[in-house]
Amino acid sequence: MYELKVITSFCAAHQLKNFRGACENLHGHNWKIEVCVVSDTLNEAGIVVDFGVLKKYVNAIVGSLDHKYLNNLDPFKNQNPSSENIARYMAEQLAIELNSPTLKVTRVTAWESESVCATYYP
Ligand SMILES: [Zn+2]
Repeated sequence: MYELKVITSFCAAHQLKNFRGACENLHGHNWKIEVCVVSDTLNEAGIVVDFGVLKKYVNAIVGSLDHKYLNNLDPFKNQNPSSENIARYMAEQLAIELNSPTLKVTRVTAWESESVCATYYP
């Protein structure tokens, strides 16, 4: 099995409802996002998929979140824009674009600081 990983980042603001603690107040993070896809197949060029293609899809989703107040965006109107939900949202969106019989999005990790992250496995 081959695993490819794309790492990117975005800055945004959020606040967590139904939560007691610092994150209930409006604040921001510089999220680091790691996206992993796997395949057991290589093409004639000896690659799973062009990294540029992966980055194009990842950057499109990240671009829709960057420098936004996440609570106001449609995907987070009915659920907190927690790192957990950000990771799941990205995984689900990327799976729609990228999953094929030979390629699967296997996990997305959202780091909200140097020391804490949430990973979603579709
Ligand atoms: Zn936060």
